[in-house]
Amino acid sequence: PEAVHPGTRYRRYPRHRQCNRSDRLHGYLALLQLDQPDARYDHSVGSSYVPVYRKEEFQKQYCDPAEKLGMECTSGRTSFRLWSPVAEEVQICFYKNGEAGSAFEIHPMQLQEHGIWNYETKQSLHGIYYDFLLKIEGEQVQSADPYAKACGVNGLRSMAVDLRKTDPVMWESDKAPEKEAEQIIYELHVKEFSWDASGGFPVEVRGKYPAFCCKDTSLYGDGKHPTGLSYLKNLGVNYVQLMPVYDYGSVDEAGRADGFNWGYDPLNYNVPEGSYSTDPFHGEVRIRELKEAIQALHRQGFRVIMDVVYNHTYSLDSWLQKTMPWYFYRVWEDGSVSNGSACGNDVASEQAMCAKYILESVLYWAEEYHMDGFRFDLMGLLDVELMNRIRKELDARYGTGEKLVFGEPWRADETAVEGNALLADKAHIHLLDEQVGMFSDDTRDAIKGSVFEAEEPGFANGGKDLEEQILASVKAWCGQKEPKVKAPSQVITYVSAHDNHTLWDKLCETTASEELRRKQYRLAAGMYLTCQGIPFLLSGEEFARTKGGRDNTYNAPITINRLDWEQAYKEQELVEYYRGLITLRKMLPGLWDKSAQAAKRILKTWKTDGCVGLYVDNQTKEKAELWKTLCIVYNGSEKQQEVKLLKGTWEVLADGEDSFLWKHPQIAAEHMKVSPVSILILGKKEESR
Ligand code: CA
Repeated sequence: PEAVHPGTRYRRYPRHRQCNRSDRLHGYLALLQLDQPDARYDHSVGSSYVPVYRKEEFQKQYCDPAEKLGMECTSGRTSFRLWSPVAEEVQICFYKNGEAGSAFEIHPMQLQEHGIWNYETKQSLHGIYYDFLLKIEGEQVQSADPYAKACGVNGLRSMAVDLRKTDPVMWESDKAPEKEAEQIIYELHVKEFSWDASGGFPVEVRGKYPAFCCKDTSLYGDGKHPTGLSYLKNLGVNYVQLMPVYDYGSVDEAGRADGFNWGYDPLNYNVPEGSYSTDPFHGEVRIRELKEAIQALHRQGFRVIMDVVYNHTYSLDSWLQKTMPWYFYRVWEDGSVSNGSACGNDVASEQAMCAKYILESVLYWAEEYHMDGFRFDLMGLLDVELMNRIRKELDARYGTGEKLVFGEPWRADETAVEGNALLADKAHIHLLDEQVGMFSDDTRDAIKGSVFEAEEPGFANGGKDLEEQILASVKAWCGQKEPKVKAPSQVITYVSAHDNHTLWDKLCETTASEELRRKQYRLAAGMYLTCQGIPFLLSGEEFARTKGGRDNTYNAPITINRLDWEQAYKEQELVEYYRGLITLRKMLPGLWDKSAQAAKRILKTWKTDGCVGLYVDNQTKEKAELWKTLCIVYNGSEKQQEVKLLKGTWEVLADGEDSFLWKHPQIAAEHMKVSPVSILILGKKEESR
């Protein structure tokens, strides 16, 4: 067939076939699902390139993952290297401005080995914007640099950047705080964090990176009620997970409207998002401001996790596609575009140069921005080999397990993965490194009910026959037939995240009585915070965050998404309850042990209808623990339950009302009562010798 370069005629949003309603669908993508199929995507365009790429000769001649690609800029040299074996010629265009104006210089690039186009100069081009003009199949294609490290407003032109000029003061000595025995992850959106006036942030930084650098913020600036990082420090979480901070496409950075988006629509993978910066027009500012934010988080005692979305791009009309059509995307044999992401395209992580791209991007964020962990969106679309390689390379550079790696072990639909590649999903958890984790939807749904059937309850809100799932959740599913989890380090335990209803809104769907709902809320919190696995919570869960019943707010107004710091003080008792549970958990190795042997700590379990109990071995070799054994009871029923404790002296550490009882423990009765819809945590004292 006559080859047509698709890049020049792409629509801004890809058209693609309507997905089946998949239970893993990121509903926010519904917006992109246009009604008419586009002939170019559904027929042979992709397939005319793909067979060439998959030939061994092509791979031998052109795919060398050891090649350095992208822009490098120092005081005495700037170089650009672009991989495009299919291009007939490539020129580089330089601009003074990141958005407007025509090129002031255009230079041909030289074709080198492995299909790499090179241009270099002995000058520093720091601050100069650029893009490429390629000739492919006789047609001109203009594209920004897929490897760009900086860009102009809205990411449409790349920028040469001398990265050392973007470092904040003392950046070279920036260090993450020491890793604590337990990791507690708090999911936060940059704009949501500081946008609301109640946070007391200065007006000019609200919704921006520099808000993280504001110390001692308080409720409307009253000086009494901490907000922001001081509040989080007090809460006890130690990892802040930033929702997408790479450059995404859905918000106008020029600020012509006060747009909001979660940001799961990557445009420039290796550049920070510009709408969070105080000046998105100058490419170096967003870089410095994000680094300063990370530095401030580190100084305040938090490690930082980056939410990364390598499974799909904003549109199929990406820089990767424009410079190397169809190499980076999965295509079905009939030529139609694979859409397991439900976002219009699937990135082909199993292809050598694509795997290289993703791996190098992760390493770049770890090295250049000092990121302490990575949360992979729809990890079930990436492949096992790549995820294990990422783990290995991070371990080699920073020490085993030092950087967290985990992701969503699912996808929205089938994907056209090639060769023998296995997908990094729940079914393949046993093939992933012990330090690659997955969100456990099983634990989440067992505790509070399905995220897709709003009215379906879980154990904590009146669901029936869930006792076995709860016991499996406690052990982070270790020892189960499916999923074959190797150790609790592979499991992220949670009951709320940015997707779906907040915990409060979910319980509103299942439970009419507010009094009962509040008990269920505490029980749900107590349950996931006493499961083995890595605890994770959506920002504001601890103050009963609501989005007014909406289950998908990816592009809803900021007024719905913003953190309401006033709410944190209206719900101060609930926040205290969370704080107590978090503080207690950090003292209980029986719960935070992440080793493959952790499940053996669950000594004895029992269940009745709506009630589950267990004993946990809480001893360590290193030191004498305050409590040798724990007894934990989850009473999901509306009846009072009773436990007959094993012999010994038991102290009451927490119940459904108070999670700080351990501070002044009372001795437990032999027959201990467990109130309706509540948790009870007891600790057995070390026997005196
Ligand atoms: Ca952007």
